[in-house]
Amino acid sequence: MTRLSKLSRSIAGKVALVTGAASGMGRATAHLFADEGAHVAVTDLDQSKVEAVVKEISDAGGSACGWVLDVSNDAQRASVVAAIVARWNALDILINNAGIVVEGEVNSADFAAGWTRTFDVLLTAQVMLVRDCLPHLEASGAGRIVNIASTEGLGATKGISPYTAAKTGVIGLTRSLAVEFGTRGITVNCICPGPINTGMTTNIPDDAKAEFARRRVALKRYAEPEEVAHGTLNFVLPAAQYITGTHLAVDGGLTIKNA
Ligand code: NAD
Repeated sequence: MTRLSKLSRSIAGKVALVTGAASGMGRATAHLFADEGAHVAVTDLDQSKVEAVVKEISDAGGSACGWVLDVSNDAQRASVVAAIVARWNALDILINNAGIVVEGEVNSADFAAGWTRTFDVLLTAQVMLVRDCLPHLEASGAGRIVNIASTEGLGATKGISPYTAAKTGVIGLTRSLAVEFGTRGITVNCICPGPINTGMTTNIPDDAKAEFARRRVALKRYAEPEEVAHGTLNFVLPAAQYITGTHLAVDGGLTIKNA
C-alpha cells in the first residue's frame, strides 16, 4: 500500500540564516539545523564568537559559514544576505533571533535611548531583514520565517516596557507578514520562549531562577536552548506548509499556569 503521508520533515540542503547565533537559542538553533542537514549562516556581532560556532558545527560534521551581522545595520544586512546567496545559491529559512534586554522604568533618566535601541534591534531589524531576504525566500518556493518573540509578548514583567512592547510587536508583525505573504509560498510564525538558560539570563542568581520556576512554571525549571530550537525546527519543515501567522509558547507551561 502506498503511504498516505506525503509531506517532508527534512530540511536537508536548505539554506538557513540565523541571527544572534553565537550564543543561547541562536547557537542551539544553528547546531540543530546543521544536524538536520541544512547549510547554516551563523551571524552575530562578534567575529571570534561567530567563528567559534562555525567551528563547533563543522567539527560535528555540519555545513556552516559565518558572517558578522549587526541586525540594526542596514548596509551589513544587505551585504550579508547577498554573501549568503552567493555562497549557497539560495536562502530558504530566516530565523530572526538576535535580542537584547534594556532594563529601566519609564521615568528612568536614559529610558528614551533604551526604548529606541530595543525597538531597533528587536522589532525594526526583524522586518528589515525580512525585506532583505524576501526575493530569495520567495524564490525558494517553501520560504520559512520564524521570529523569536517571548512570553513577554503575552504578559508583562515590571521594568522592561520596551522589551515587552517590542516582543508584543513581534507577534503582531508575524501575523501581518503571514497574511501579506499568504500567496507567495512563505510562512511566518513566531516562538515565545519562557525562561531559558542563555546569555540573557546568565546574571540571574540560581536561587532566584529556582524560586521563579517553582512559583510560575508548570515544569518547575528553566529550559535549555535546544528545547526551544526544536520548536523552531517544527515551523521550518517543508511539512509545516499550512502553519502560518501563529505563535508557539515554549515555556514549560508558564503562560497557562494560574496557581
Ligand atoms: P543570548 O544573549 O544568549 O543571545 C542573544 C544573541 O543576540 C547574542 O549572541 C548577541 O550578541 C546577539 N545580538 C544582540 N544584539 C544584536 C544585534 N544588534 N545584531 C546581531 N546580534 C545581536 O540570549 P538568548 O536568550 O539566546 O536570546 C535569543 C532570543 O530569545 C532573543 O530575541 C531574546 O529576546 C529571546 N528570548 C530569550 C528568553 C530567555 O529566557 N533567555 C526568553 C524569551 C525570549
